[in-house]
Amino acid sequence: MGWNEDPHYRDLRKRMVEYQIVGRGVRDRGVIEAMLKVPRHLFVPPPYREEAYNDYPLSIGRGQTISQPYMVAVMTEALELKGDEKVLEIGTGSGYQTAVLAEIASEVFTIERDPLLAERARELLESLGYRNIHFRVGDGTLGWPEEAPFDRIIVTAAAPSIPKPLREQLRVGGIIVIPVGGRYGQTLVKGKKVSDEKMEIEELFDCAFVPLVGEYGFPENPGL
Ligand code: SAM
Repeated sequence: MGWNEDPHYRDLRKRMVEYQIVGRGVRDRGVIEAMLKVPRHLFVPPPYREEAYNDYPLSIGRGQTISQPYMVAVMTEALELKGDEKVLEIGTGSGYQTAVLAEIASEVFTIERDPLLAERARELLESLGYRNIHFRVGDGTLGWPEEAPFDRIIVTAAAPSIPKPLREQLRVGGIIVIPVGGRYGQTLVKGKKVSDEKMEIEELFDCAFVPLVGEYGFPENPGL
């Protein structure tokens, strides 16, 4: 990839992976290698670059966040990627999770509802040389029907339940990872679609994401 790596950030990234990712039990080689490679500091606004590898989410503007590195690692590991999958991601945000997915999977389709965030992420990811990412601006709770079915689906915003279109657009045998619950607290859920009608659900742990806003998500203005 065509950027000049600053050794300072490479060292911060190595430490992040060692302590926050491997140190907490993530074992998937693909995830570890992707997170050693993707320059996370470029995905945060310049004032936060020094904090990019710290153990917490950061603001990316527009009321949104880039997820904590450990959360990105666990969600990606839960997808059980082998390398040949077609993945749908809802909530492009900064594009960091998208880059981690694109390092491992063969094709990534990513949807973001905020046009400004979507454009920033696209510019950055294209400048880093990714050619296996497809972008869409819109309501990701509707999925991307023209490209379905997907082998894997990851949702990086909190949903009241697994959106019906996403259940339908997941291939039988596929996996979805999504935070499900209320606006302010959720459980990270891993669903395996075992037949057209049945999803096996595993609850991983409690989490707190920004809301998934859309037709099969939360309303834009609660209380109005
Ligand atoms: N994965 C991102 C990253 O690595 O930076 C973090 C995503 S942030 C926690 C959640 C994102 O979901 C926000 O950018 C938000 O605008 C977006 N979002 C919320 N509802 C959405 C919807 N219905 N469709 C698409 N994106 C949505």
